[in-house]
Amino acid sequence: ENVPESRIDYVYKVVVIGDSAVGKTQILSRFTKNEFYFDSKSTIGVEFQTRTVTIKGKVIKAQIWDTAGQERGALGAMLVYDITKRQSFDHVARWVEELRAHADNSIVIILIGNKADLVDLRAVSTEDAVEFAEDQGLFFSETSALNGDNVDSAFFRLLEQIYSVVS
Ligand code: GDP
Repeated sequence: ENVPESRIDYVYKVVVIGDSAVGKTQILSRFTKNEFYFDSKSTIGVEFQTRTVTIKGKVIKAQIWDTAGQERGALGAMLVYDITKRQSFDHVARWVEELRAHADNSIVIILIGNKADLVDLRAVSTEDAVEFAEDQGLFFSETSALNGDNVDSAFFRLLEQIYSVVS
């Protein structure tokens, strides 16, 4: 993780957006620290977090923000809803509009249905989300920040796609 700056080939800015309480902070902690916080908010005062990964032989530092209004300059976005909260999925279209209005045209977006561990509380079917994502040209994955399922793979898909867009 402690990669010297001189070895970094690219820095990619990524934003994590979506309704409040869908799990944005926890997804970020899972990806950057492999941690989940069972008590309250953990990122007070922290503007962004980073993780350095290797993609196709290149050392890429992902600089990830989970505060709204940081779309400018972002190469990728993770648009998160909560699979147990229908409303958070119904708002996704608005978040896409927000991104199209304020972010770069070529921004890569992955739609994320989080809290996939809460199987008995599911309120959004995978099929509905897949259909929406295909319609809008978004990547899609369901994750659990709690148990870690698909969190790394979702970030890697996003970063690999950014890499293929910008290079
Ligand atoms: P944010 O407002 O979008 O940043 O949401 P948080 O990351 O603060 O999470 C909101 C609440 O959902 C917290 O109580 C988290 O512990 C919980 N949470 C987040 N991700 C998951 C998950 O994958 N599964 C479950 N069961 N709870 C989660």
